Amino acid sequence: MTNNRTQIVAQILAALSSAARPSAAAELLAVSKGQTAEAVADLLAEGQRAFGENRVQEAETKFSTLRQNHPDIRLHLIGPLQTNKVKAALDLFDVIETVDRPSLVEALGKECAKRGRQPGLFIQVNTGAEAQKSGVLPADLPSLLAHCAEAGLRISGLMCIPPLEDESCLHFAFLAELAKRHDLGKLSMGMSHDFGMALRYGSTEVRIGTALFGSRGQTQSGDRDAVRL
Ligand SMILES: *Cc1c(COP(=O)(O)O)cnc(C)c1O
Repeated sequence: MTNNRTQIVAQILAALSSAARPSAAAELLAVSKGQTAEAVADLLAEGQRAFGENRVQEAETKFSTLRQNHPDIRLHLIGPLQTNKVKAALDLFDVIETVDRPSLVEALGKECAKRGRQPGLFIQVNTGAEAQKSGVLPADLPSLLAHCAEAGLRISGLMCIPPLEDESCLHFAFLAELAKRHDLGKLSMGMSHDFGMALRYGSTEVRIGTALFGSRGQTQSGDRDAVRL
């Protein structure tokens, strides 16, 4: 066993319990970007089924074979989606967490209508209003939600990535408040360094990479992770 799944699952359950939330209130999304298919296979053997990837192409390459043996794998797209990759993304992902702009809503709406089905959809909110980060600005969330409704897209929740330099809890509380205001039940928030906090603020899905797998050895996303000692 080369991952920390047992410990992470125990930590998730402990955090839920101390927040007086049921043990099934949140799920572990294993963020497998930059990890090998072998590392994913190890997690599959331990019962993990929900995985998060940042890039359509990387996910396609890594999961096409794994999925033949494990049709119950659930794949979440947690990185930005270009409109020209919408078809490929819909072929592959069960959940798209990064809906963030009208052009993408249009493209998704059209293609989902054509297929007669849609994946799970989250809106990514740029809670820190960071220029370089994707996600809709909080002030534009209501109009984007209206746009989704017009396009026939059902949104099940919100997702955020807090600014590195901020206290995550402020962003988690804010995202939870936005979700409540718009009657959205799901909250994708919390990563390796702050998932315990996210669970206290109502996260229904924590996205964990490095704490689960160790550092990303062969990352293709340009991340500068610490070298594993
Ligand atoms: C990489 C990534 C994660 C996982 O981050 P870790 O710090 O490795 O747990 C979670 N969410 C998103 C959107 C990511 O890109």
